[in-house]
Amino acid sequence: MVDVAERTPDARVLPMHRRCPRCGETKPTSGFYWLKLGRHDRYCKECRRALTKEWRERNPGRHDGLKREWSRDNPAKVAFYNRKSRYGIIREQYDALVKAQGGRCAICRKPAEPLDIDHQHSTKLIRGLLCGRCNRGLGHFQDDPALLLAAAMYLLSAGSTWWAGAWWPAWALGPDGRPNPPHASGDG
Ligand SMILES: [Zn+2]
Ligand SMILES: [Zn+2]
Repeated sequence: MVDVAERTPDARVLPMHRRCPRCGETKPTSGFYWLKLGRHDRYCKECRRALTKEWRERNPGRHDGLKREWSRDNPAKVAFYNRKSRYGIIREQYDALVKAQGGRCAICRKPAEPLDIDHQHSTKLIRGLLCGRCNRGLGHFQDDPALLLAAAMYLLSAGSTWWAGAWWPAWALGPDGRPNPPHASGDG
């Protein structure tokens, strides 16, 4: 990576960068906490964390008190964060997804409560809602469509005993209730 701080001592030259007055480093804005639209913290994340830690050490016990006070003054926000942490998405989004799938698993179509949120691991995008059984099933096959297809083919053909799952007319069945092997009939 290019050392931005060395080349541009003044952060104002690069609009996407800021210079932290504490450590003196110039970092991209992602290195600063976002306060509100268009406004970033004055200090970089590392410095802000250090400052917060120092403040807590200088004011033992005050942090818990302030946290409690804030929770009491912002019940709606507390409820929002609780909902969000439970599902990784806010409750309203989850409910909308459940409704869109009719409360049923996207694979087996059976109703399930609750439905698991199935993420694509690489992108963290939500693929859909699944029942626990199907969700674990995908996991067992490493979320690999090729493996899952191979498993389906296995079940449909080679892996199963050759008579299983097929419907056989009565005349094709032997005395043991199983169909006569095709090569054993003689006059085929
Ligand atoms: Zn800093
Ligand atoms: Zn299912």
